[in-house]
Amino acid sequence: MIPPAFEYYAPHSVDEAVALLRRFNGEAKVLAGGHSLIPLMKLRLAEPAALIDINRIPNLSFIQEEGTHLRIGATTRTNDLLDSELLRRSYPILPDAAQEIADPLVRNLGTVGGNVCHGDPGNDLPACMLALGAELVTVGPKGSRTLPVSDFYKDTFVTALDPTELLVEVRVPKARARQGSAYQKIEKRVGDFAIAGAAANLLLDASGRVETAGIALTGVGPTAILASAASGALVGQSPDDQHLGHAATLAGTAADPNSDLRGPAEYKRAMASVLTRRALDRALARARGGG
Ligand SMILES: Cc1cc2nc3c(=O)[nH]c(=O)nc-3n(C[C@H](O)[C@H](O)[C@H](O)COP(=O)(O)OP(=O)(O)OC[C@H]3O[C@@H](n4cnc5c(N)ncnc54)[C@H](O)[C@@H]3O)c2cc1C
Repeated sequence: MIPPAFEYYAPHSVDEAVALLRRFNGEAKVLAGGHSLIPLMKLRLAEPAALIDINRIPNLSFIQEEGTHLRIGATTRTNDLLDSELLRRSYPILPDAAQEIADPLVRNLGTVGGNVCHGDPGNDLPACMLALGAELVTVGPKGSRTLPVSDFYKDTFVTALDPTELLVEVRVPKARARQGSAYQKIEKRVGDFAIAGAAANLLLDASGRVETAGIALTGVGPTAILASAASGALVGQSPDDQHLGHAATLAGTAADPNSDLRGPAEYKRAMASVLTRRALDRALARARGGG
């Protein structure tokens, strides 16, 4: 199907993009990689009056550590997550997830900002950002704001982003010694969205106990799910088979899946638990210097 007519703008600055979003007052859409938005428009499930293409705005594509944070620019491509030596070394959950997103063609164009903003519970990066305790930096007509990703996802395709706001970067707390993270996913066929996915991020103290933990799930609820009870159960523990198994069970109970073409709800819930355990094992091995 062909989308209805729309206006097209390619601003060269964040201010210009925000002015356009403001002018269209909720009727325009940001265009990043286009790999989620354009299919929706072709199906006429989205009919924006205008597209604001942010690909010509300079300095929105970067991966860098600065001060207490890792900063990832909104138009950073999914493939850039795979290619980054910094991420492979210190934030391996992101290359883990990028490797599982679609295929090289989609990863070449799809952006971190688009994956995070789309609000599809099948997107893989939201759970990673929840597990990492990330923050989102946006710019809108009233200026800039920084909001925790844990406050961002409201419902399927519904986020805390105002339609006149632009996401400019994602900030992740800087990785520390004895920290490990991992992402695990199962899919019906290579390159598909998740049947279920699990993200884990563990920081150990000098004695090997869990100082902080983040666990989040993909594809098993209306949004990506932060499994707070599961991660809370690990804090302060010297993680052994029993603690990890208990946390994985709690993650399964946090899942709220529907039965659909990707499988029955009970299967997805069970997989959320299995994948959480695998992600925890891998994150722990990495935190201990292996993996
Ligand atoms: C065949 C196929 C398979 C796929 N498989 C997977 C998969 O397994 N896992 C997965 O996670 N994804 C998958 N995707 C989705 C893909 O990763 C998309 O690229 C991604 O979801 C959206 O990123 P984008 O840059 O293409 O965003 P776009 O499609 O351009 O935009 C998506 C939405 O986000 C908004 N947006 C984008 N950037 C910003 C910004 N900076 N500020 C504010 N709003 C913004 C847009 O307005 C739009 O509403 C697949 C896509 C395809 C076509």
